[in-house]
Amino acid sequence: MAGSRNPVIGLLGGGQLGRMLCEAASPLAIDIAVLDEEKAPAKQAHNTGRHVTGSFKDPARIRELAAQSDVLSVEIEHVETEVLEDIDRNGVEVKQADGSTRTHRPPVHPSWRTIRLIQDKYLQKEHFRASGKGIPIAEQVAIESGPAAVASLKDAAAKFGFPFMLKARKGSYDGRGNFKVDSEADFEAAAKALGGLSLYAEKWAPFVKELAVMVIRTEDDNGQLKRCVAYPAVETVHEDSICTKVFMPPRDVPEAVCEAARKLATEVVSTLWGRGVFAVEMFLLADGSLMVNEVAPRPHNSGHYTIEAVPQMSQYKAQLHAVLDLPVPEKLTPRVPSAIMLNILGGATPSAHLKLAELARATFDDDMDVYLHLYNKESKPGRKIGHITLTGTSTIQELEAKAKPFIDLVDEIRR
Ligand code: ATP
Ligand code: MG
Ligand code: MG
Repeated sequence: MAGSRNPVIGLLGGGQLGRMLCEAASPLAIDIAVLDEEKAPAKQAHNTGRHVTGSFKDPARIRELAAQSDVLSVEIEHVETEVLEDIDRNGVEVKQADGSTRTHRPPVHPSWRTIRLIQDKYLQKEHFRASGKGIPIAEQVAIESGPAAVASLKDAAAKFGFPFMLKARKGSYDGRGNFKVDSEADFEAAAKALGGLSLYAEKWAPFVKELAVMVIRTEDDNGQLKRCVAYPAVETVHEDSICTKVFMPPRDVPEAVCEAARKLATEVVSTLWGRGVFAVEMFLLADGSLMVNEVAPRPHNSGHYTIEAVPQMSQYKAQLHAVLDLPVPEKLTPRVPSAIMLNILGGATPSAHLKLAELARATFDDDMDVYLHLYNKESKPGRKIGHITLTGTSTIQELEAKAKPFIDLVDEIRR
């Protein structure tokens, strides 16, 4: 890989995570070849001349991407893993200048095994349970599909009581595959809303807060774990099942709980395969205990704050370093004592968010830096189209008070 040209990472998916990965790659002389539709946000930010147009679920396009990449990676877990497995095992045929062909075998990071496991949220958690590492997860049962669904939901209700959460096993994001079942009267609506999907039910987690921890995982070329390094724990706030705000450090959470969250996240990620950054989403219960909700095998919304708060190694730079097997630090220490990330979700009108951008551009404060990120995505109600990170010079409570005009405006746009 070293030598006459920049390393090339072939990336499946070019949304905002890919875009911020590209923004981190450009100044480091790392090229990313993005597979996604023509005007995907990531492609606009990084002109390598290597992008591939098409679907990140299309095996032919994935092979085309692999042919020019030193390593393959993903910005989204909902990809075609059969072809990733085949490329990892057998490589792709690449045409040479003289007309002959050679086999090129770029590794896939994180491993297609990890991506495949994580795609199915039910199997993902069964894996954590079976790992023997004492990873706490919500009780869960698979739900029958078709006409047997209602009987199966009755069994879940008998086991868990109400409410419980009915979830699509695959393909969901931003809570779009979730249905809170409050009583038997909801069975039909739930089966209808998620009809046709493979489902499972999860016991309701009566959490007081949600926490998340990003972890960098490195391993050698033989798949031996080298290191898991955790970022600080953050508090994530979800409204209507979508993440709207992130607080670093979590508000009113003892340091010992934050440390326990980092340790748990490290345990969780150590059971997976491949290199890269991972997000571990957790519930904090009233008794101070933690439960793992799910893992994302890629940079994550809860780690956006690291761009400004851990600039030496943001989650994006960490992803580049990890997948290319470049050094990563043993410890990740934020440069600021507090940070808040606010998602900008598309409002009722396409320009609803512009007021927020204006406020961000107009705010200068010695104790609060304001960083606006718009992803150049078309605004649609509820769609993540940007975020603002605010960093503070003192406590998270003081920063929250200072950030109030931003928080109020973000809430207003959502309504
Ligand atoms: P993401 O965008 O994070 O991938 P997702 O669609 O995979 O989201 P989940 O993370 O499973 O969905 O759930 C979304 C949110 O719904 C959680 O962050 C939490 O607020 C709530 N939630 C999920 N499972 C439960 C549960 N068992 N009990 C209570 N609330 C839950
Ligand atoms: Mg998810
Ligand atoms: Mg989630």
